[in-house]
Amino acid sequence: MELSYHPFLLEYKHPFGVSGNTRTQTQTVYTKIVWDGFVGYGEACLPPYLGETLEQTTAFLNKAKPFLQQQSYPCSIKEILMELDEMDEHCNAAKASIDIALHDLKGKIENRSVRELYRLNTAENTLTACTIGIDSEEKLKQKIEEAKDFSILKIKAGTDDDRKLVQTIRKYSDKPLYVDVNRGWKDKNKSLELAQWFKEQNVVLIEQPFPVDQLDDSAWLTERSPLPIIADESIKRLSDITKIKGAFSGINIKLMKCTGLAEAFQMIELCKAFDLKIFLGCMAESSCGTSAMAQFISCADFIDLDAPTLLKNDPFLGITYSNGKVILNDKPGIGVTTSLF
Ligand code: MG
Repeated sequence: MELSYHPFLLEYKHPFGVSGNTRTQTQTVYTKIVWDGFVGYGEACLPPYLGETLEQTTAFLNKAKPFLQQQSYPCSIKEILMELDEMDEHCNAAKASIDIALHDLKGKIENRSVRELYRLNTAENTLTACTIGIDSEEKLKQKIEEAKDFSILKIKAGTDDDRKLVQTIRKYSDKPLYVDVNRGWKDKNKSLELAQWFKEQNVVLIEQPFPVDQLDDSAWLTERSPLPIIADESIKRLSDITKIKGAFSGINIKLMKCTGLAEAFQMIELCKAFDLKIFLGCMAESSCGTSAMAQFISCADFIDLDAPTLLKNDPFLGITYSNGKVILNDKPGIGVTTSLF
């Protein structure tokens, strides 16, 4: 198998604000794995908070190249991923880009979608939230208007006054809200007051209220909150799930955190066993990464796969959106096309 890659700068339609920073672009790296004329694509999306640089990612991909050259179809993607884990304990996005490309390749060789490879049912509910970053009232109003086709909004919170933020949103929309605090809260008593008030405001869930090391506070809030508390930054991989037991009601699973589809599926299975809610999310990736994650959409309790709608230069075609729903196509693999490389 021949691995090649192509760094690419994804540009947002609007500057994207989250608790702590605002950015206009996201570095991504596309991978391509070719075997016997079949081509599989993958993506390593690198938002700065992930802590994985372009240099680290390309260095890892260069290191993985000779190993992949020794692989051929049929192969065990899980075993290949175990070998990649041995090469470097970090670089999860780079590993995900290989995992996604291998799944895409396998699907194309077998002429089946990844969801068929995993014997998953057709999804009934594919409503995705549309994410709205932290912004001025005027910009929020504009973004809510642009999100009119979506029936759930996900807002980035963790501001000095999240009550005011929700009040501002409520001037323009009464849609259900997912509130992503991005570790922005510090005080557990205040967080419970907010959670109770959010409940009255038709907020559906709260994501990552506290910094990663405040697990006790998270457990305290989860026990008392009328809304589910979802882990994002606190959970990267399968092995993290047992460490947070009791501290959250569910997990936001993202391919860039967990090294790809093979491990994401194991996380889904473990969440089911632990009675944890399954939230399928994404970083800022294009239609390549999101179309991969969308293959597991029938397993999700909550979905946030709208990232391509926020981009102005997505070089891939894949999932589409209609009336706030994610629409999968019938193409094999992860269901994407590109003319990029
Ligand atoms: Mg989040």
